[in-house]
Amino acid sequence: MSDLIAEQVSRVKARIRRLRPEGGVKIMAVTKNRSYEESLAAIRAGVDLVGENRVQEARDKWREKPPVPLHLIGHLQTNKVKYATELFDGIDSVDSERVAEALNARLEAPRPVMLQLNGGREASKTGVHPDLAIRFLAEASRWPHLVFNGIMAVLPLAVDSSAAEEKRIRQFMQEIGEVWRMCREEQFPWAPLAELSMGMSGDYEWAVEAGSTMVRLGTVLFGSRSGI
Ligand SMILES: *Cc1c(COP(=O)(O)O)cnc(C)c1O
Repeated sequence: MSDLIAEQVSRVKARIRRLRPEGGVKIMAVTKNRSYEESLAAIRAGVDLVGENRVQEARDKWREKPPVPLHLIGHLQTNKVKYATELFDGIDSVDSERVAEALNARLEAPRPVMLQLNGGREASKTGVHPDLAIRFLAEASRWPHLVFNGIMAVLPLAVDSSAAEEKRIRQFMQEIGEVWRMCREEQFPWAPLAELSMGMSGDYEWAVEAGSTMVRLGTVLFGSRSGI
């Protein structure tokens, strides 16, 4: 099992290197629904960080902190904020003012977070509308404990492997890339926006081509999810 995971990590790294020879793309292993052993195998194989979707699952799995940064990438319920701030090095899923407010109130010192954008404006997903990203960040100085170090894009999954679908998804990625660059140009001291977290197993190569600096990979590293 760990050999397979190591092989997949190497394969993904090679593909990313081909697309971005100068480097600068981090690999996050998304370890939701994966065992502790599988998760550790990915870390040993050289991923840069680990992402979890649910606070409770992450608490159960990571009683001992992993040797790479641990980030939250799923929606944060406000009753879990205390545990989240104790456990995670970064919270990439700040998807609303409500979440920002709750995190800021609980934290005592600045913590890196990311603004989550709903790149496809899907009703089923949380996240700030891309058109409102600049305004959201401009007003973020009122949360002095949040340092917005990136944008995390959630995007529609391609429904099939047609060229039209590829074009549709790539357009969303292009748009998010532009929003990220525009927001960076504002140079808000509280929003350095070093990272653009974009791209999952099915579309990470397109995301790297669109400027992503962090891809979030589950299936392509670990295989299809069993059970759920
Ligand atoms: C599950 C998940 C991923 C990884 O999805 P795969 O398609 O398995 O690579 C990435 N980002 C978020 C927010 C997720 O929930």
